[in-house]
Amino acid sequence: MKVKSAVLERMGAAPPYGQSRPLVVQELELDPPGPGEVLVRVAAAGLCHSDLSVINGDRPRPTPMALGHEAAGIVEELGPGVDDLARGDHVVMVFVPSCGHCVACAEGRPALCEPGAAANGAGTLLSGARRLHRSGGDVHHHLGVSAFAEYATVSRRSLVRIDPELPLDEAALFGCAVLTGVGAVVNTGRVPAGASVAVIGLGGVGLCSLLAAIAAGAREVVAIDLADDKLAFARQLGAGATFSARDPDCIEQVREATGGGVEFAIEMAGSVRALELAYGITRRGGTTITAGLPPPSGTMALSPVSLVAEERTLKGSYIGTCVPVRDIPRYIQLYRSGRLPVDRLLSERIRLEEINEGFDRLHEGKAIRQIVLF
Ligand SMILES: [Zn+2]
Ligand SMILES: [Zn+2]
Repeated sequence: MKVKSAVLERMGAAPPYGQSRPLVVQELELDPPGPGEVLVRVAAAGLCHSDLSVINGDRPRPTPMALGHEAAGIVEELGPGVDDLARGDHVVMVFVPSCGHCVACAEGRPALCEPGAAANGAGTLLSGARRLHRSGGDVHHHLGVSAFAEYATVSRRSLVRIDPELPLDEAALFGCAVLTGVGAVVNTGRVPAGASVAVIGLGGVGLCSLLAAIAAGAREVVAIDLADDKLAFARQLGAGATFSARDPDCIEQVREATGGGVEFAIEMAGSVRALELAYGITRRGGTTITAGLPPPSGTMALSPVSLVAEERTLKGSYIGTCVPVRDIPRYIQLYRSGRLPVDRLLSERIRLEEINEGFDRLHEGKAIRQIVLF
């Protein structure tokens, strides 16, 4: 079938993207689902920093690539062998498909699925297939999803069925921002009630961590960013104290205000400087969590003495250490009961044709979570 899709022709275009137009909305040929695959009618897809990292080349991927990895939609057609979904089911897409058989999957860590990571790196579905074509060749899939499109053919293993009562524009957030941000707190950090928590980097993912820390019963929630308007928004969402990362003595300020640092510092900004700040404000015995993905060339200086003598922990968190089929329905229930108000992060609803301008807003820090509606 023919579908309208936003395709990244090559990486490294210079902003403003409204002028350089790295994403070209065009008609592609989409194959029907093969064995173990599903055709989904995409209802809503979010603009995420991980898309931006492919556009600017920080996360190199093969091009041309149909972007978009945070989405929700409705099952349209089932491929051979898919017998646990039905046409009309509402689904959230998950941007690492899990094979269910590799060592990581067997250990209950599907976010680290090895065939899933290999397929994502190659720009294929889990089966190895590319289901998107145009005259001149195949178009790569982005993280097994490619959801900036009216329809997507994806692996069954990229989907989680959800409660159909949830509006699909809200549901899309649960595929990346909520899964990553909430999971960093409750899965990676296992933050207990009464803990002190700081979040560094207040984009969509970081603000989900902030909301999760509050929901988890943290006694103290600190928010840190470069932008004053984001700090103000964090206070509206319930942050108890905010600090500007532009202040050269930000680390000293936080340590002073928190009696020696926080027990959990969560880096969601994607820069080495932010990670160093996070480590600097973690107290003795505390845990620093990083999920922000600085550019691959980045390195960090770390004193091993502090790790040992202060029993510090530094942990990476990928997609919130998630088990999607367990976590997405749980987080949706928390949202629907009012304890995780992630709808407050939805800043704009846009059309597919406005997507380059949308990435300008994201790049400039002027939007939290924008959603393309189909
Ligand atoms: Zn994302
Ligand atoms: Zn696996």
